Amino acid sequence: MSGTADADVVVVGAGLVGAACALRLAAAGREVVLLDAQAPGQGASFGNAGHIATEQIFPLASAEVIRASWRYLLAADSPLRLRAAYLLPLLPWLARFVWAARPAAFARGVAALMALQQTALGDLAELMAHASIGGLLHHDGYLRVWETPAGEAAARAQASRLQVYGVNCAPVETCMLRRAAPGLSTRIAGAIQYPDTAHVDDPLAVCRGFVGALLRAGGSVLQQRVRAVQPGRHGPVMLQLESGQTLRCRQVLVCAGAWSRPLLAGLGHAVPLDTERGYHITVPWPDADGTPAALLRPLQVPVASTERNVIMTPMAMGLRMTGTVEFGGLSLAPDPRRYALLRQQLAALLPGSSSANATSWMGFRPSLPDHLPVLGRSPLHQNVFFAFGHQHLGLTLCAVTARLMADLMQGHAPQLDLSAYRVDRF
Ligand SMILES: Cc1cc2nc3c(=O)[nH]c(=O)nc-3n(C[C@H](O)[C@H](O)[C@H](O)COP(=O)(O)OP(=O)(O)OC[C@H]3O[C@@H](n4cnc5c(N)ncnc54)[C@H](O)[C@@H]3O)c2cc1C
Repeated sequence: MSGTADADVVVVGAGLVGAACALRLAAAGREVVLLDAQAPGQGASFGNAGHIATEQIFPLASAEVIRASWRYLLAADSPLRLRAAYLLPLLPWLARFVWAARPAAFARGVAALMALQQTALGDLAELMAHASIGGLLHHDGYLRVWETPAGEAAARAQASRLQVYGVNCAPVETCMLRRAAPGLSTRIAGAIQYPDTAHVDDPLAVCRGFVGALLRAGGSVLQQRVRAVQPGRHGPVMLQLESGQTLRCRQVLVCAGAWSRPLLAGLGHAVPLDTERGYHITVPWPDADGTPAALLRPLQVPVASTERNVIMTPMAMGLRMTGTVEFGGLSLAPDPRRYALLRQQLAALLPGSSSANATSWMGFRPSLPDHLPVLGRSPLHQNVFFAFGHQHLGLTLCAVTARLMADLMQGHAPQLDLSAYRVDRF
């Protein structure tokens, strides 16, 4: 530790990304302080779908998504929705999104996502085992189902496009579908299985598991909001905390998810970070007494509906349904109609299930317009590092991110060229 610093490394943000990075750094022998304004895992990492989505190699910024969604962007029940009150603030982000969907930019985005996805599941399995929470991870794939001929055509077209890039997937026999998902509606006409994906029992438990392992490795956790990061020219980085205190450290890693932008602005970096809000409902498992087997455990693996744009994941605490993207910034209240929509989708996909006791939640996916995260060192301040903007893939990519960032911060060459993810690419 430097003579004038209070801490060796401070990681700002104890979501999945920050917690994974903090643990990896501690495992490399660094003295780590993990800072968060809230308890660990209360941001986007709290309520995600738990899907290790290694098949997702196409950035959302694509000509296909723009063609399919612009007409219904303002409709209340649209899977991709823009809140009218947020139209003006979002315009610059939308313009960059459209720009990032050009064929050449999209192709670069696919290559950059594939590079991360290559080892994402292996890195996650290794880090979870290191944290003694390997039992929360299930290597059991997921099913993409359809109800209509149009849905079938869309699911098959998507599978064919992914297969070109080596993604493993295959149609599923009806009997296997009924075994894997006995509670599914008989309206489901078919499915494609993606066997190389995985899911976790509870994303919050994963985040807490990383933090627990960090503490056992000698790291510490502080509940404090960081108001500003001020790099010293030659000395330590200063963190101004909401409490009025100043914390000095040798290196800082900003992992503040959808809230990273103001911290970066103070450092001289203007990043077009916004949020894609997502909703979930979680239905507790029914009591075993008298409940038909198909409803006790209606799904063995995650199931995504092509037409309804939702995914259902069997978790430790119950069945979670997540879905939809809503552009509405960080301060508008959740729209209760989105929860009602999820309840309707659940009733249609799993008839016989009841969402009466469901809990509901909204979270803020941190998204840059080209749908790549920011990973790397600040080009302006050599002791300042960034890892944020993991959009729909923060659980999937947290451990590969952690390995790359720990290598970089230790002065080792990361296994990947990080230029595609640099902070000044916009
Ligand atoms: C509905 C939904 C479903 C999803 N499903 C999946 C999925 O199946 N698979 C997948 O891989 N990903 C999924 N995601 C995305 C994933 O959840 C996110 O990408 C991931 O949680 C981002 O993690 P993070 O650590 O970057 O951010 P967060 O979890 O949001 O953590 C950021 C933390 O920084 C803290 N913070 C912010 N500002 C400050 C400050 N100034 N000072 C101190 N602390 C600060 C916050 O309190 C917060 O705890 C989903 C997201 C949503 C919303």
